[in-house]
This record gives sequence, C-alpha cells and structure tokens, in this order.
Amino acid sequence: MVNRDRFLDYDKSLACIHCGLCLASCPTYLETGNENDSPRGRIYLMRALQDGRLPLADTGVRHIDLCLGCRACEAVCPSGVQYGELLETTREHIEKRYTRSLYQRFLRRFVIEKIFPVPARMRLFLWPARIAKALRLDRLLPGALREPLALIPDRITTADLPEFSPTDRPSVRGRVGVISGCVMSSMFGETNKATVELLNRAGYDVVVPKNQACCGALFAHGGNLDQARQCAKENIEAFEAENLDAVIINAAGCGSTLKEYGHLLHSEAAWRTRGEAFSKKVKDITEWLAPPSTLQPSNPSTHEPAPQQRVTYHDACHLAHAQRITKPPRELVRAIAGLSFVELPEADVCCGSAGSYNLTEPEMAERLQRRKVENILKTGAKIVVTTNPGCILQIKAGLAKAGSDAQVMHIADYLLGECKPA
Ligand code: SF4
Ligand code: SF4
Repeated sequence: MVNRDRFLDYDKSLACIHCGLCLASCPTYLETGNENDSPRGRIYLMRALQDGRLPLADTGVRHIDLCLGCRACEAVCPSGVQYGELLETTREHIEKRYTRSLYQRFLRRFVIEKIFPVPARMRLFLWPARIAKALRLDRLLPGALREPLALIPDRITTADLPEFSPTDRPSVRGRVGVISGCVMSSMFGETNKATVELLNRAGYDVVVPKNQACCGALFAHGGNLDQARQCAKENIEAFEAENLDAVIINAAGCGSTLKEYGHLLHSEAAWRTRGEAFSKKVKDITEWLAPPSTLQPSNPSTHEPAPQQRVTYHDACHLAHAQRITKPPRELVRAIAGLSFVELPEADVCCGSAGSYNLTEPEMAERLQRRKVENILKTGAKIVVTTNPGCILQIKAGLAKAGSDAQVMHIADYLLGECKPA
C-alpha cells in the first residue's frame, strides 16, 4: 500500500546528517548490527514511508516496532535530531493504518491501553497471573506468554496515598504534588509511600490529588496520541488547582511524558500554555532531593567495599536520555554507599523493559535483559538501584533467571532507610 499521508515533520527528519554517531548508543543496533535497526536507518525508513517509497507493510513496520523508544540516540546526536518526536508520530500513523495480528491487537489495545492505566483493573488482572505463577502453570505456556509472567514479582504492594501528608519538620520548605502512577500504585505501593515520607522528611507538605490520571506515556509510546492528550488534560486540571511548588514523579518513564505536555498539546494553544506551565513544575524525585539538599545519609559509608555491600546504579532510559538526569541519582546513592558504589558497565543501555516493549517484543527484550544482567554480575553488586518500575521488574526477573540473589531497589526505597533530614 503506497502511503502519501504527511505524518512526519520532514524538516525535523532532515536534521539527521547521517553521521552515524548514534549507532554505538542504540541497543537494538548493538544487538542486530542491522542498519535498519539503528536510529539513522529508522529515520530513513520513516521518510521512505512518508514518501511512499516504502509500503506500510510488515518489513518497514518491523524495524520501527523493534525500536525501544529509549532515546539514547537523541542524547548523543550532534545535530539535535528529535528522534522521540519522529518516532511518536510515525507510530501514531502505523497504529491508524496498519493491521496487526490478533495477539498484538489484544496486547496493545486491551492489556496495555485498558488494563495498565487503571490501577483497579491492573490489581484484578494481577491476581490470576500471580496464582498461575505460584502454581508453576507458567511452564505450560508458550514463550511469548511465559516471559511476561516471569516479570511479575512474588511480592507486590499497593497503597492508596493520603490526599494530604504534612511534614513534621519545624519549618515547611514548600508544598509539592506527587504523581502516584498506574504501575507504581498497583505494584509498588511501598515505594510510593517511601517517596512521600522522603519528601516529608525533607520538609515538604505533600498533596496527592485523587482525580489525577495516567500520565499518558503508555498511550504516547504506543501511537495513541489522542488518548495521551486526554490524560495530559486531566492531570493539568487536577494539579493546577493545588497551587504547588513542584509536581514530583518517581517513575522515569512517566516523568519524561509529564515534562513534554506542552509539546503533546502543541496544536491547541490554550492547552499548550497550561501544559508548558505544568511541565515546568515536574521534577523527578532524584533531581528534587539531590545534594546540596534536603537529606543527609544517616550512616555514610567510607570504608572499603565489601562484596556483600557493593551497590550499583542502572540508568533508566527515560531519566538518563529523555530527561538527561544522570548525576543527581548517583550523588544520592554515592552519599550512602560511599566506596561501596561501583559503576555499572553500559549503565545507560536499555534493559529491554522500555514501557510495554517487553510484552510486545519479548525476544529483543530478553536479549537486552541478558546483556544488562551480565554487566551487573561483572560488578559483583548485591544491590542494583534504579528509578523506574519497568526496569526493576525486568532486571529482577533477569537476575532470578541467572540464579543471582542481588536485590533490585527503587531509589526511594534505598534512600528511605538511610537518610535523615539535613
Ligand atoms: S547521530 Fe543524529 S545526525 Fe548522526 S546519524 Fe544519528 S540521528 Fe543522524
Ligand atoms: S530510541 Fe533507542 S532503540 Fe530506538 S533508535 Fe534510538 S537508540 Fe535505538
């Protein structure tokens, strides 16, 4: 089928000067060595799709589907190519025009778009999956279903955060909102509580508006931009009313979408202005708490690293590449771990989680999971700290497969036990 729709911002795609500097940062290119699985190759394919030189058929779609959306290419591009934006509009075009298999439609339109963004449905959905896992029924399933089941951890915590949690510090430093998140509130309730507690310890009153919505990332990454815009509008309205100093997020994938509401709503002038104002207030928990700050380790480690204490840090793609935040989380972890901190080789190479990628592309996700686990094992770390729920599930499952007993922790959980107010 020849396609002449104008879905791509052509000038932005022409910013690519084919230098190839992004290739070594692209996880899928590192794995396949195929130019079509590289940023440069994919931009060329996007243009070919728009020009009608390439039909909207399995081959072209395959290479775009295989992209993780990790934006590692964007972070290293000397020409400033806005790859994430090109990918989103291409994916929107694909979802509107290309017919996927029944299984992929079930995953994308039902599981990812109808279950994941609604915590109550997500909690219900997890029950049979956890029972199947506990009874080892997963062994009877085909690989494509077994892999997603392996991601579900044995221990899940849920928590409905109070709408208002005041600090007990003598002087209040400010009033911040917290995004409770879909996956975070369904599976990482204790981490959400730890986030609120850290903010309270740092002197902030915390507001969690009940009428907040999914951040929209799952929709935007899957090509459903209309639904992502709807989520953005609901969140802007919910948080605008609260007169906040900042809106804090503890999930990197959500954070990058929340910081791009102005762009997401660019075609509606009034909403764009409100979206930009909202996005300016969004802060990842690590950039808000990082030194010189607000929290001090209760027991900073200054001794030589012992193998059982070694700690490393995995960069979630949407924190390191999309938000360019790499220093604050390291400073926070180092403040506690001291000499026990070890850098992870390829720390910023995607672990294969990439939002819902490990469901839709389990084979490549597993290759990247293995690569990440091999690098972790080389460090000898017993604790891996990171900042995104998807990465935690993906790395935990990978370490379990490798027979490792290393723990994977969200940075809020890691900090909670170790920090006191400054
Ligand atoms: S680094 Fe940027 S300009 Fe160079 S090939 Fe990659 S996307 Fe194109
Ligand atoms: S977003 Fe990630 S996977 Fe996709 S082309 Fe860029 S570096 Fe490669």
